[in-house]
Amino acid sequence: MARGVLVAGNWKMNLTLEDSIALAASLAADATTTTTVEIAVFPQMPWLLPVAHALRETGIGVGAQNGHPLASGAFTGEVSIGAIAPHCRYILAGHSERRHLFGESDEFVGEKVRATIAAGSRAILCVGETLREREDGLAEAVVVRQLGAGLAGLDAQQLGAVTIAYEPVWAIGTGIAATPDDAQAMSAVVRRWIAEHYSHPVAQQIRILYGGSVTPENAAALFALADVDGGLVGGASLKAESFLKIVAAAVRTLDL
Ligand code: PEP
Repeated sequence: MARGVLVAGNWKMNLTLEDSIALAASLAADATTTTTVEIAVFPQMPWLLPVAHALRETGIGVGAQNGHPLASGAFTGEVSIGAIAPHCRYILAGHSERRHLFGESDEFVGEKVRATIAAGSRAILCVGETLREREDGLAEAVVVRQLGAGLAGLDAQQLGAVTIAYEPVWAIGTGIAATPDDAQAMSAVVRRWIAEHYSHPVAQQIRILYGGSVTPENAAALFALADVDGGLVGGASLKAESFLKIVAAAVRTLDL
């Protein structure tokens, strides 16, 4: 498939510097798989440069979990996307923990996506509904709203620097992944929205990840879906063994 498969590990606020470097080294030791499946890891911010150094020349990418869209200013504790972009292959925008724990609006997420692309990096825009929204029949409407704001102002060429991650909030960190049917249906909603607002060829090019309690056991079924091009993995990315099994599942789906 032209758009390629990505397996991204979101380490969140976990792992010491030593553990992060050790995990990166374990992944690098198994990097033979990266010829077919792209791997990227997202360490805590201070470990970004050391992990990037540990992974240099391995093909495994390093990304940032967050960043502020403005270049500079009085935003104590924030880190500018412009400052981190040169060190990152990807920057996440709109992860549900940022939206829900830190109150980030759809529009602010869109600013981050635009700032990331302007800074020469690539954005992973996370979208997904809460359990309440799903139960109220609003899953599609929420995802479409988040896409509209998250991609606002981007032309088709800029969209080439964006990956979408469909991550239902109720599946993140709960051990309850979306069923393959639901993951496919929502990924198809995303791809259809891109086709309607850009073009069919652009929609065919954009990569859509599934995220939410991906494990070595369920990864193959999720990654084999027609509109799913890999995964954004939280808990199962913290151990080399489980993350590499998930990568191996992604490699196998390419052989199908
Ligand atoms: C995530 O944090 O993006 C995520 C999907 O977490 P988990 O795999 O632990 O559900």
